[in-house]
Amino acid sequence: MVKFTDLSPYYKQVEDELLSVIKEVINETSFVYGKYVHEFETLFASKMNVNHCVGVGNGTDALVISLKCMGIGHGDEVITAANTFIATSEAISNVGAKPVFVDHDKYYGINPDLIKEKITNKTKAIIPVHLYGQSCDIEKIMNICKDHGLLLIEDTAQSHFVKYKNKFSGTFGDAACFSFYPSKNLGAIGDGGAIITNNDELAQKIRIYANHGSPEKYKHIIEGVNSRLDAIQAAVLKVNLKYIDQRNQQRQKAGKLYNKLLKNCAYVERPETRDFSDHFYHLYVIKTENRDDLRDFLSMKGIQTGIHYPTALPFLPCYKYLDYKPSDFPVSYKNQSKILSLPMFPEISENEIIFVTESIQEFFKNNN
Ligand SMILES: *Cc1c(COP(=O)(O)O)cnc(C)c1O
Repeated sequence: MVKFTDLSPYYKQVEDELLSVIKEVINETSFVYGKYVHEFETLFASKMNVNHCVGVGNGTDALVISLKCMGIGHGDEVITAANTFIATSEAISNVGAKPVFVDHDKYYGINPDLIKEKITNKTKAIIPVHLYGQSCDIEKIMNICKDHGLLLIEDTAQSHFVKYKNKFSGTFGDAACFSFYPSKNLGAIGDGGAIITNNDELAQKIRIYANHGSPEKYKHIIEGVNSRLDAIQAAVLKVNLKYIDQRNQQRQKAGKLYNKLLKNCAYVERPETRDFSDHFYHLYVIKTENRDDLRDFLSMKGIQTGIHYPTALPFLPCYKYLDYKPSDFPVSYKNQSKILSLPMFPEISENEIIFVTESIQEFFKNNN
């Protein structure tokens, strides 16, 4: 049995450390905001080399709150990737703006060459997604934003501490949104998220908006929301932050081993890494023609796989009203029936990877 993702080896290893910080939080009864959240925010900002980090309830809220605090809403358009998790486009719709999708390049990042034709006088921002654990073509996207006066919000939910040319993903734009959902590269033991930015005014606005619009208790200067990072999650994240570099390296090593072992399999397209970017394989995604049969075969062998994502956003029922055709997003459309995410987590063993790749070879030997 090879699990798609397995959090238990890591949590067994750090269990004592976590129980001791959780006990501390309970002893201090500092459950919402307070010391632990502040400590994590400071540490995360400093490790990312940015001026501000504001912890929020989850990654989706991070996106919604960023958009809201940048003044984006009804009548506005926001450009984003056609192939991402729904949270990215949901956030755009939930502030009242219209998501405008763009197809992806061969590294699964939003294709900058297709962005310009989607810009209208209503476009206010671009939300590129650093999907699967590597950077998107961020410099080109930055330049488009500069040329057209657009805001840049990076969705870094899948790419914690990924570097592009020696700068972390999430430090190129006006703000970046992180998720600490348990299975993300940096995860909590429940929901959590954060926004980072170098903009002092924006950081303050975000902090106030996320806490009922009040800089001090009961001084509500605007109506906001309740979306705060929980103290227990913050304390756990502080511990997990100690291990993130090591665990990202383990993911990279696992990804490289997959690459090596699948090199001679003509029926499988391996994920490619963009020049100048790290790849920390939040997901290890291959492409193949017989995806569904392969998936069934691997499942019979006890190997769990995933599909990220089975339907590209423009073709989901919730976006039927936008009336898109497959030919509007040909790359995403073609890939949604070919992509397959193989088991990937930092503690996956060499033997497990060998078993997965040998099983893939076996399938193609019998089916071609
Ligand atoms: C996980 C994820 C989110 C949302 O994060 P939550 O913490 O689950 O709300 C947003 N964007 C992308 C690309 C994600 O993978």
